[in-house]
Formats: sequence, C-alpha cells, structure tokens
Amino acid sequence: MSTSASGYIVLLGAPGAGKGTQAERLEKDIELPHIATGDLFRAALKQQTELGKLAQSYMDRGVLVPDDVTIAMVKERFGQADASRGAILDGFPRTVEQAVALDSILAERGAGVTIAPYIKVSTDTLLARLAGRWVCRGCGAVYHMLYSPPAREGVCDSCGGELYQRSDDTPETHLKRIQVYLEETAPLIEFYRDRGLLAEVDGEQDIEGVYADLLRLVRGATQSSS
Ligand code: ADP
Ligand code: ADP
Ligand code: ZN
Repeated sequence: MSTSASGYIVLLGAPGAGKGTQAERLEKDIELPHIATGDLFRAALKQQTELGKLAQSYMDRGVLVPDDVTIAMVKERFGQADASRGAILDGFPRTVEQAVALDSILAERGAGVTIAPYIKVSTDTLLARLAGRWVCRGCGAVYHMLYSPPAREGVCDSCGGELYQRSDDTPETHLKRIQVYLEETAPLIEFYRDRGLLAEVDGEQDIEGVYADLLRLVRGATQSSS
C-alpha cells in the first residue's frame, strides 16, 4: 500500500548505516522524492561538469565537499517541482552549517524538517556493510554481496544494469569517512534532538526490520503534520 505524505525527512546515520537502502524503499511507499547529495555529485561527475570534477577531488579522499558548493547544489534541487511537498534527504545535511541552511531553505517555503530518523549502527557493522556494497550503474539501486545480493551476480534486479563498487569504497577511505562523520556529522544528532525531531532506529537489524521501524516513525510524523 502506498500513501502520499508530505514533509521533509532527514535520514541520519554514518556511511554504510543503510540510508540509501532505506530511502529507496521509503520513496516507493510514501511517494516523496529521494534526494541524495552523494548521488547528485556522482551524476555531475558522470556528465563531467565543473561541479562533478570539483566534488570528485573531495570524494576520493573521503572528505566532505565544501558547504557552499553542497548547499548551492541542494538549493537548485529543491527548486524542482517534485520537492514542493516534501523529500527524503539522504546524506544531507552533513554539517551544522548545512543543517542551518536547510532550515532557511525550508523556512522560505513555510516549511521545516518534519523528522530526523537516526539509523544507529556500530563501527564494525558499518565496515562490513561498506566492504560488500555494490551499486547499479543504471538506476543507483544498492546491493550487498552477502546481505542483499542480486538474483544474478553483477546484474541489477530492477533495471538489468551493471553493478559496480564505488571508487571511494576502499578500506582506507571507509575509515576516513567514518572519522569525518564522527567529527562533522555526528553533532547533528544533538542538533535535531534539541529540536525534538530526532527518532532513533536500531540499524543493526536486517533491512526489513529497520524498514518496518522507520516506516512506522515516518508515517506517524508525516501524516500528523500534513
Ligand atoms: P555514503 O553513502 O557512503 O555515506 P555518499 O554517497 O552519501 O556516501 O557520499 C559520498 C561522498 O560525497 C562523501 O564522502 C562526500 O565526499 C560527498 N558528499 C555527499 N554528501 C555530502 C554533503 N552533504 N556534504 C559534503 N559532502 C558530501
Ligand atoms: P548509506 O547510504 O547509509 O551509506 P547504504 O544504504 O549504501 O548505506 O548501505 C550500505 C551497504 O549495507 C549496502 O551494501 C547495503 O546493501 C547494506 N545494508 C543496508 N542496510 C542493511 C541492513 N540493515 N543489514 C545488512 N546490510 C545492509
Ligand atoms: Zn538498476
């Protein structure tokens, strides 16, 4: 069953927590667009735009793209019609400065963040998830070679596209990204807790278990606020 909802959902969690995986499912059920800044940067890179080339130099090192660049890109994405009722934000905001910018982008349209589900996962689990991640070149669907394998090795179940491992999915970059997360992004947990928007989800469960908890929280928040 799919119900349309309205509201801006900020998915929090470390790299590998499962934000993209959960957002793919949520997008179908609640009919709000999935906006992932990592995907936007990778799309820009594929088209070899200046933005894409600039972003790549940061992504390959596992550090964040500067806030001004990221915020400008998100503002543009928010200008598209599909985001007028709400969105599922995955990988944005990643710094307090981005969270403050998001509040002002939403305030301009008389809205605000509806809920910030935090998918909580241990570092060991993050590393195991990141190490086995494969992504579809065609549609961006996320797989794991052990936990969520495709029916045919190397081929996407939904679009038949080729699966690949991201160039920033290397053991060295994983540790760097988790460190950057702890320093720059983890403060957002308190930021949203202080505003009464944080909702913790036990991310150690399997994909369906996490999704059941997440969907319940999101439905509760998006329906009561619309
Ligand atoms: P993951 O799913 O592993 O967390 P993402 O696809 O979200 O990775 O992000 C990949 C890279 O893109 C990050 O390591 C960072 O360099 C860049 N990036 C994505 N989102 C942001 C953001 N909001 N601010 C700055 N950099 C970002
Ligand atoms: P994020 O977007 O937070 O970086 P992803 O959604 O890309 O995380 O998930 C990272 C990897 O972990 C992927 O290979 C995905 O298939 C796998 N994964 C996601 N959620 C779970 C889960 N609950 N249990 C096991 N594996 C998972
Ligand atoms: Zn695909």
